[in-house]
Amino acid sequence: MEILYNSTRGTEKVTASQAVLMGLSPDGGLFVPDHIPALDISLEELSRMTYQQVAYEVMSRYLTDYTEEELKNCIEKAYDAKFDTGVIAPLHQTDDHTWFLELFHGATIAFKDMALSILPHLLTTAARKNNVTNDIVILTATSGDTGKAALAGFADVPGTKIIVFYPKYGVSAIQEKQMVTQKGDNTYVVGITGNFDDAQTAVKKMFNDRDLENTIRKAGHQFSSANSINIGRLVPQVAYYVYAYVSLIREGKIQAGEKINIVVPTGNFGNILAAFYAKLMGLPVARLICASNENKVLFDFFRTGMYDRRREFVLTSSPSMDILISSNLERLIYRVCGNDPQALSVLMKKLTSEGMYSLPEEKRVELSDFYGNYCSEEETAGTIRRIYDSYGYVIDTHTAVAAGVYEKYCRETEDLRPAVIASTASPYKFTRSVLAAIEGREEEEDDFTLIDRLSSVSGVPVPRAVEEIRTAPVLHDRVVSPEDMPKTVLSILGCA
Ligand SMILES: *Cc1c(COP(=O)(O)O)cnc(C)c1O
Repeated sequence: MEILYNSTRGTEKVTASQAVLMGLSPDGGLFVPDHIPALDISLEELSRMTYQQVAYEVMSRYLTDYTEEELKNCIEKAYDAKFDTGVIAPLHQTDDHTWFLELFHGATIAFKDMALSILPHLLTTAARKNNVTNDIVILTATSGDTGKAALAGFADVPGTKIIVFYPKYGVSAIQEKQMVTQKGDNTYVVGITGNFDDAQTAVKKMFNDRDLENTIRKAGHQFSSANSINIGRLVPQVAYYVYAYVSLIREGKIQAGEKINIVVPTGNFGNILAAFYAKLMGLPVARLICASNENKVLFDFFRTGMYDRRREFVLTSSPSMDILISSNLERLIYRVCGNDPQALSVLMKKLTSEGMYSLPEEKRVELSDFYGNYCSEEETAGTIRRIYDSYGYVIDTHTAVAAGVYEKYCRETEDLRPAVIASTASPYKFTRSVLAAIEGREEEEDDFTLIDRLSSVSGVPVPRAVEEIRTAPVLHDRVVSPEDMPKTVLSILGCA
């Protein structure tokens, strides 16, 4: 059955490939499937499949206007030797009810590779299907990981350009080095003198700026988004939750049909929303455990029904979760509001003008699939150390927020059914914080010395992605204020 995509804020209705191409709806809304497809294939059958085959079964249910050949082609190009393991997303067991789903085996050692290695192919296929002849210009705001993963995905893909904005003083040294050493004639990396929300707000504004759009169209370009609001990011992420579940069946750890919990370190709410979609498709999932760092807007929201961004923005050791406006939450709120774009628009306008909104009491019960909690910086470091001491397993700061919240959940609820924790970055991406947690003191050496020490502590070889940037030259050094972002885009595209 064909699936069309509705805007959360208007009457726009488009095909899957058009939604991938447009990123954001012209009315400012996010595209959502008009119904959630059922996973109408048995879990036993899925448990005998490779990652690529499972990805096809899941994605083909959503991207219904892509042909089988087109979609399989995209999947083949995405999940190949760029990943350092054939299973793509392996599970690592610690105690008898906990598995870490390692989503960091791609080109940039973070989970965003899972979606961003396939998005360029979904996008160029969509352009072909819709007779687009303009160059596709990817505009991205990043809190660290998206930037590099998008750059790696799009570098030298014909018919595309990619411009990445990142908070100059809000990402780790390694994250910055990864981005500013990016090769590819079609790649542009720009630091901004603001935080991630400033970057994201400015990018959203550019997407809605008709004059800007017309100017660049005349020069043969059109915008698209690689941010996690693109449905072409969300759909590939559903696949690894299904794959994790059927891997547990294959390994004899659970019976088909047995419910599991899923724990996700959350920022923009994309990753956990994908897990929710997997549940709605019929994957046996009990609770979705939403883990936040000290920017705990989502914890407060799940507790009180009030979303309130009016607070101090905290820089933490898990910078990819330092977010006060979780864009993808809009898709959940839309659903909770009975798929009513008018009701949703009222809330989103309130968020823009007053910095907060409240869900009516009777809608809150619809959030009962979710459990929210958060970890302080101290708790996060403590979790890294405890898991290292107990199991000899080293996790990154983002994953540690999830593991720490999961411990709180178990204590509070005594619900010890099997759980999968999304492990969203390699510890090598956040070496300084990880080593400081394990060794219990601040580190003074340079990043690469620490990387070598982490390798001897963890027994895990330094990933190729990290080795490569050790000696790579800086190719991008532009820094601008958030206000100057549109001007910068015009100048890059030769329109100024
Ligand atoms: C982006 C990111 C997150 C947050 O994921 P969302 O989908 O934005 O909620 C968590 N951990 C890491 C390492 C990330 O890069």
